[in-house]
Amino acid sequence: MAEETLLYEGKAKKVFATSDPGVVRVLYKDDATAFNGEKRGTIAGKGAINNQMSNLLFRYLEEHGVPTHFVEEISERETLVRKVEIIPLEVVVRNIAAGSFSKRFGIEEGTPLERPLVEFYYKNDALGDPLVTDDHALILHLATADDLAELRRLALAVNDLLVRRFREAGLILVDFKLEFGRLPSGEIVLADEISPDTCRLWDERTREKLDKDRFRRDLGGVEEAYQEVWARLKGGVAR
Ligand code: UDP
Repeated sequence: MAEETLLYEGKAKKVFATSDPGVVRVLYKDDATAFNGEKRGTIAGKGAINNQMSNLLFRYLEEHGVPTHFVEEISERETLVRKVEIIPLEVVVRNIAAGSFSKRFGIEEGTPLERPLVEFYYKNDALGDPLVTDDHALILHLATADDLAELRRLALAVNDLLVRRFREAGLILVDFKLEFGRLPSGEIVLADEISPDTCRLWDERTREKLDKDRFRRDLGGVEEAYQEVWARLKGGVAR
């Protein structure tokens, strides 16, 4: 890799160009933010865990027929991924009430939902990533009707696969956020990351929170929770 051209710097990652115009290099940082950037901090070792955990899960999803941007892990914190045009929707899937869903609808955290719920949020920091209906997305030209159907189908397929994979590691997948991108061919693929930053994960037995809620809610043991999730997933031990 010759010159380093920084294409983008986000809250948790930097993206660099490579000699291949179809491939970019992602560098995962230890920086953490919450509440739309209002709360800031560092979670030691997070970058390496989020990178390797995302890659393990992307490989698993690919093996089960879900297309992703993943190309190759090049170090603990760095991965080559296919360059995509990110669709400006955050796709959230929920299995159990928590977070903004519990708050918005007054439903106690921990209440199981009768089926997985898919929500779309408009990716726009200035507006605080507002929840959007399908009609909002269509009228604001954030996606087409076909795109929305495809995003929903892929998100539900990812949910089924991840629920199973996390269960094998003794973890309950409460909810998570996905981002998708478009390849030059037009194909929609899973992008971004899947990590304790973007998933709510509870211990199957104790229901202890093992994710970014420990940072958001000042619960302590943040680093340990990320390490625990990674150790369990990597080990693949049934608990
Ligand atoms: N999430 C995320 N990035 C965001 C917003 C949400 O990764 O900008 C994840 C969050 O970690 C959780 C799920 O999406 O697993 C649902 O989040 P929720 O809408 O409950 O919002 P929060 O309570 O995190 O503000």
